[in-house]
Amino acid sequence: MTSLAAEFEEEQRMLIELVQSFVEKELMPLEKVIMAREANGEKAGLTAEEEAPLAAKCRELGLFALDAPEEFGGAGLQATVMMAVHEQLKRTIVPFIFPPDSPNLHMLMAVASPEQKQKYMEPYARGEMKSCIAISEPQAGGDPAQMRTRAVREGNEWVINGRKIWVSSVPSADFIILMAVTDPNLRARGGITAFILERGTPGFTIEREIPMLGGTRTYELTFDDVRLKDEQVLGVVGQGFAPMQKRLTVRRLEMGASCVGMASRALEMMCEHVQQRETFGTRLADRQAIQWWIADAATKIHATRLMVLDAAARQDRGEDVRTVASMVKVFATEMAQETIDHAMQSFGAMGMTRELPLAIMSQRMRLMQIYEGPTEVHRMVIARRTLGNYA
Ligand SMILES: Cc1cc2nc3c(=O)[nH]c(=O)nc-3n(C[C@H](O)[C@H](O)[C@H](O)COP(=O)(O)OP(=O)(O)OC[C@H]3O[C@@H](n4cnc5c(N)ncnc54)[C@H](O)[C@@H]3O)c2cc1C
Repeated sequence: MTSLAAEFEEEQRMLIELVQSFVEKELMPLEKVIMAREANGEKAGLTAEEEAPLAAKCRELGLFALDAPEEFGGAGLQATVMMAVHEQLKRTIVPFIFPPDSPNLHMLMAVASPEQKQKYMEPYARGEMKSCIAISEPQAGGDPAQMRTRAVREGNEWVINGRKIWVSSVPSADFIILMAVTDPNLRARGGITAFILERGTPGFTIEREIPMLGGTRTYELTFDDVRLKDEQVLGVVGQGFAPMQKRLTVRRLEMGASCVGMASRALEMMCEHVQQRETFGTRLADRQAIQWWIADAATKIHATRLMVLDAAARQDRGEDVRTVASMVKVFATEMAQETIDHAMQSFGAMGMTRELPLAIMSQRMRLMQIYEGPTEVHRMVIARRTLGNYA
């Protein structure tokens, strides 16, 4: 339970406790299986057979569509409460989320047509459909405005050609939000369009699966004369970049909460271990070197949680949170990487094995400093906007 739980209403506190208990009872027992898969070089994920009963349990407990609007059968939870939910979920390395994955939901909520809402968003919000987003390309990741995948109008169709890379969650996706250039002169300023592409659309190929750190997988995709009708344009032609950025902001806040969850678990493991391990006749917990790791971790976790909740509260008020979301992402990922690393160090050789969840956590933290924008790009943006305030 977060230390700010007192700020939440009774009903919200009960929900967070329910999530906490779901994580401890349903997910944590699966950690050994996930660690064994990663150690074997396999994808560190759940099989469909393992996921089905968890999804059924979620339904039974009402743990789905938490931030979907009430008119679409969701609970309409505020971002602040969602942050506490994500914090709890990421205390475990078992990769499971309460459906749906929020960022694409928010992009669909913002720009989908009434027909698209009915066809894609509603089943997605209910957890009956999955999706992913394809932005990055071999020569354009941190600077997505340089993407080359091209959508050209031919008659009443769009013809799409190009290549995407590093895309997550592709095999299970029923539809892909595909970003393509519709006007190369305008690019991010009116020349990039979002499309909804359904699985099985002719011309779309999953070229290869790419093994990443921590048993994660991403995918390289090709689009060869893919033909889409106007109904597959998501939002306004040429205006795809801004809703895509908004979607990234939702994920960045969520990542901040995830970092708090992972770092809290690492701190808890470190505290338990150092109080029972003795070297040179003294408990590790009594060494100042170790105490400082613990003090720093506790302080920085607290600071990060406050940052995340402040950013979420601003988002709930409809403020522009792009800069604070960048701050959260940089600070939270560096905080969690340091905390997990100190926890690993405190365990000695055991901390270097694949028999503790710390190894997978550490590798996933490393990935988090790249996706949704590398740390250096976020620092560049924060500096640019800060300097602008004093120009
Ligand atoms: C696990 C994982 C999952 C991903 N999932 C998806 C997904 O689902 N969909 C999708 O579209 N993409 C996805 N990505 C891609 C991700 O968004 C890009 O990798 C990321 O934006 C960086 O792009 P890049 O790899 O091309 O690196 P580049 O843009 O080439 O940057 C390389 C490095 O250069 C440095 N750098 C770049 N710009 C600057 C600057 N302005 N100042 C200083 N240094 C700089 C940074 O250190 C950076 O790490 C995923 C990536 C990973 C690792």
